[in-house]
Amino acid sequence: MFGYNKKKENKQPPEFLVLVEKWDSFLKKIEARFNESLFPAEEAVLDQLEEGNYDMNSNMTAWSGIKAQLLQLADKIETTFVTKVKPQMLEYIEPWELIEQEQKGVKLKESFRPKLQRIEIILEGKVAQKYYDYAIEFLNQDFHCTQCGGKLEIKKDIFRSHYVVCNYCNSTNTFTPSNKITELRWVVDQIAKYKALKEWDEKEAARKTCKAIRSPKEANDFTKLKHAYDNWETKEKAFWTKYFTERAEYVSDYKDTIAHDVKVKMELFFYDDRKRSELQY
Ligand SMILES: [Zn+2]
Repeated sequence: MFGYNKKKENKQPPEFLVLVEKWDSFLKKIEARFNESLFPAEEAVLDQLEEGNYDMNSNMTAWSGIKAQLLQLADKIETTFVTKVKPQMLEYIEPWELIEQEQKGVKLKESFRPKLQRIEIILEGKVAQKYYDYAIEFLNQDFHCTQCGGKLEIKKDIFRSHYVVCNYCNSTNTFTPSNKITELRWVVDQIAKYKALKEWDEKEAARKTCKAIRSPKEANDFTKLKHAYDNWETKEKAFWTKYFTERAEYVSDYKDTIAHDVKVKMELFFYDDRKRSELQY
């Protein structure tokens, strides 16, 4: 059978090779367009934050729109292959010879999502930082006791309603932050994630290495897989530790729960996966 395949490959007609060239250059163009759109997208979303008077919701809606457009490029790869490339190529080759060509498109398409995921961390991190700098101004104003007018010492790092006892007359005031301030909890999450981007990259790489080892059969493969999982575990933990530590820098409430929060995330994003994989051993 392999001999037969080889013979076939050798006489791929020139018409087919022209079509392959066309397909390759189409994919290159789509990839370039995707990459070129990322930077302007980031600029547009950041600019819109100021123009939209720091309305986070409309800002994130704008990003969703841009993201959807970028993902449409991925759909275009598939439609073009099915409606144009495939029928044209089939005039010159057998269906099984088409797999290689189809895979090129699938590979490019699959590369878009992780790229977008990473850009999203950067983008949301930058938007969040800008928003934080803006909203924190509000907390730097003076707040006064409703009873005696004395200056109140409010907690500047919890971003939610809380009681403040007046140092002058001892009466209890309720400090209610504006909506812009309560959004800061979400904002802080994004800043922390952005600050842990190096660790995020490392754990993603470790996960990919691990996932690339498929269906191990020999003892050697299992050792390799075990090492890959050990490495991924270290990197995954490093990421969540960095993330929760950064977060606690902004919100003091979070300080006491770092170890617990890391544990919860490790269960969710790592230990389940490892357990499932060990069942195959
Ligand atoms: Zn008072």
